[in-house]
Amino acid sequence: AQAWTLTNRPKGLPKASDFALVEQQSGSLEDGQVRVANRWLSVDPYMRGRMNDVKSYVPPFELGQPMQGHALGEVVESRADAVPVGTMVSHMAGWRDEAVLPADQVQALPPIDVAPQAFLGQLGMPGVTGYFGLLAVAEAKAGDTVFVSAAAGAVGSTVVQLAKAKGMTVIGSAGGAEKCAWVREIGADAVIDYKSGRPIAEALGEAAPKGIDVYFDNVGGDHLDAALAQARLRARFAICGMIEVYNEAKPTSLRHLAQMIGKRVRMQGFIVSDYLDRAGEFYADMGDLVKNGALQRQETVFEGLDATPEAFLALFSGGNTGKMLVKL
Ligand code: NDP
Repeated sequence: AQAWTLTNRPKGLPKASDFALVEQQSGSLEDGQVRVANRWLSVDPYMRGRMNDVKSYVPPFELGQPMQGHALGEVVESRADAVPVGTMVSHMAGWRDEAVLPADQVQALPPIDVAPQAFLGQLGMPGVTGYFGLLAVAEAKAGDTVFVSAAAGAVGSTVVQLAKAKGMTVIGSAGGAEKCAWVREIGADAVIDYKSGRPIAEALGEAAPKGIDVYFDNVGGDHLDAALAQARLRARFAICGMIEVYNEAKPTSLRHLAQMIGKRVRMQGFIVSDYLDRAGEFYADMGDLVKNGALQRQETVFEGLDATPEAFLALFSGGNTGKMLVKL
């Protein structure tokens, strides 16, 4: 078996040499353990934070140890009655081809009739993030005008489609004409190509002449500032991510921050794990929407364990439309 390890704490954008693929011993199982042959690995922007040696809501990756992340695989050997051979499970031992885990650290996939990799995207962590970020954190409701950045990504494309399904007007921003065309295709009422050179605040002002009620932030920086500039009275901002600064401690200058006062803007950060206890509600609502095709799914797939760092790094140059995945 093989696993990716981190060899250095990267400075700025990680390099190929910050990662090493190492051989892992495939020992025999202990009582209560299962062996999982991984089929799909998730790479996610938050993993960049785990490469730094800083205290955060998840501990840093340890140098020289197998990295972690969401993954799906098939149980190929079991010494736990509750999880028989052949079960498809999700777990956190990604970045490797095989995982040996105690049975209580794997979850059988919920009985929803969709392709399994959907449980790493719309029906997985990014889906939960988009769902509760939009509906619980931002308290978005029918009739609201919602602005979402990184709208062609895993979380963003879920937010666009969910907002449309719930009767909202949606403006999505993404990098490049092709992605913007897709964001429109999945239902956005207006799109902003933030790479076109036009100031985002100006483009947003034109797309939402009466302003926005909700901003779902995946990017930070100029996107957040533009959203502040166009916020309506009592707008709600769900601060989900700020990918623009993950590879550099770039100070963001928010020229329109003071707009929060007069407009009574409420801005709240959140972490997906805040909503883990509401999985039942999530699967009931999102499961139907995904299964009946109301939410289109798109994936960008890199093939083979070797390609995992490359897939991860491509997140920071917009190499993905929809969920970025590695297929083993
Ligand atoms: P995505 O699928 O959206 O992939 C990242 C995308 O971000 C890229 O495709 C790219 O799209 C865009 N991007 C990259 N660099 C920049 C930049 N400098 N400026 C603007 N856009 C950029 O990833 P996810 O859907 O998994 O995650 C989206 C956001 O949500 C991230 O910020 C992530 O950290 C956050 N998140 C937060 C969670 C939480 O619990 N709070 C949980 C999960 C995700 P483009 O080509 O359009 O530039």
